[in-house]
Amino acid sequence: MYKTKNLLSISKDSKTVKGMAKGVMTGIMYFAQHNLSGNQVCPKASPECIAACLYTAGRGVYNVVQTGRLNKTKWFFGERDTFMVRLVENIQSLVKTANKNNMLPAIRLNGTSDIAWEKIACKRDGKVFQSVFDAFPELQSYDYSKVLGRKRAVALPNYHLTFSLSENNDADALEALKQGYNVAVVMDTKRGEEKPKTWGGYPVIDGDETDVRFLDPKGGHIVALSAKGKARHIVSGGFVRSKNGGFRTDIMLKLVA
Ligand code: SF4
Repeated sequence: MYKTKNLLSISKDSKTVKGMAKGVMTGIMYFAQHNLSGNQVCPKASPECIAACLYTAGRGVYNVVQTGRLNKTKWFFGERDTFMVRLVENIQSLVKTANKNNMLPAIRLNGTSDIAWEKIACKRDGKVFQSVFDAFPELQSYDYSKVLGRKRAVALPNYHLTFSLSENNDADALEALKQGYNVAVVMDTKRGEEKPKTWGGYPVIDGDETDVRFLDPKGGHIVALSAKGKARHIVSGGFVRSKNGGFRTDIMLKLVA
């Protein structure tokens, strides 16, 4: 089993964190999406989100990057203890680097997965914790998820979840809005194009301005994201929604060449 030194890819958001005059340094983990590794990492994945997954966006187009993600995923399922030791080491080093650069450290462990990290124990300085979020209370964590009912995650003060809309989970998305989540919607807008003010009757946040979702206004908002990667080739209506549209359930996937 190949054990990489760095499980986290570092992304910097230089935007000023409200009231802190600091940027955010996020360590993002990218697994092999859906069941590519032989293990399911996206329990609520839909046909269109699998086709459009960010797994193939940016550096994800390269074979070597995809192999790295497969190796990480196999390690996570094959030898959980050593994987969690490396993850804790990587987080400790991220915190140190961020502090040195006067930035706020953060982690997003589900870059291309939807795993309930709040249920995965780890050790820090010899002490056992219920999750990395418990082990690192000084660290802000955030993710997108299609899974409703992650009660422990929602209760954690340092883990922020944004619900993610697919072509077939409108009912869950409406329930998520009711429960106080924001809902991310991939739209047929180009990057830089102005987003609608409201969508489906809910106020819209431009999710392309920053990836730092834990700074979004709380609950009841649509986070509008422009289609990236393969999603750019999906005809609007299903996973990618029309900026003039709203919630719906009767959409078919139409991939264009
Ligand atoms: S879009 Fe999300 S849920 Fe769908 S395959 Fe990609 S990571 Fe998994």
